[in-house]
Amino acid sequence: MPELPEVETILRGIKPSIVNQTIKNVTIRHYGLRWPVPQNIQKNLKNKVINAVIRRGKYLIFELNKEAVILHLGMSGTLRILTQYSPPKKHDHIDIAMANGVILRFADPRRFGAFLLTKNKFTYHPLLKNLGPEPLDKIFTGNYLWSHAQNRKMAVKSFIMDNKIVVGVGNIYAAEALFLACINPKTPVNKISQGRYDQLTKAIKCILRQAIKRGGTTLKDFVNSEGKPGYFANQLNVYGRAGMPCIKCCTLLISIQIGQRSTVYCEKCQS
Ligand SMILES: [Zn+2]
Repeated sequence: MPELPEVETILRGIKPSIVNQTIKNVTIRHYGLRWPVPQNIQKNLKNKVINAVIRRGKYLIFELNKEAVILHLGMSGTLRILTQYSPPKKHDHIDIAMANGVILRFADPRRFGAFLLTKNKFTYHPLLKNLGPEPLDKIFTGNYLWSHAQNRKMAVKSFIMDNKIVVGVGNIYAAEALFLACINPKTPVNKISQGRYDQLTKAIKCILRQAIKRGGTTLKDFVNSEGKPGYFANQLNVYGRAGMPCIKCCTLLISIQIGQRSTVYCEKCQS
């Protein structure tokens, strides 16, 4: 599943080719995504200018004059820029053709993605209005997490993966950040001090920034590529390493289930 750094990389990859461009034509080959693609979307998008493309959590927002397109890559979605038309493959469900000849092509084999239109400000859309802050935003601080944790008892790993608390911290990045901050993923959130939340927010920002930086190196191949940047967190300390020795203390890492997600951590380093 594309995570925040992958979506950010895709955003940076497609942006230069489509911002300030006029949409000439939209082709929908499959309407059955996670939510049905609106039937009238082609008519609504024709001749509209894409003023900006931004990311909110793992959603990409194409801002038009009043409306906005909300796109989510789901489990398996990819976007790529074609500089000239090529025949679509089986899972190439949507083409957005620009007046400059560029085509933005959305493929989604498992069809858990979304392609929606909102006529109001996108921040009011039901999918977006309850989202917490961006993890790389200034307001995401130790104090912010600590103050939201006071009346809760949930495990800290589930807490930082809750989109209402902070967006875009997926399973890999949550496990890695908790290791970096030396916090046991099972710890109830109201038992963690503000100082340790400072460490945790720093760790989350650091890991996401590193992953985005690594993703940047794939950008040169983005145009006409498969559009699959993949996971960038290629130096993983705990994720996927159950049963292997901790890189700090050599204790064997253990795997547990928290909120139906597997979590790997070091019992000795993370207390
Ligand atoms: Zn350890």
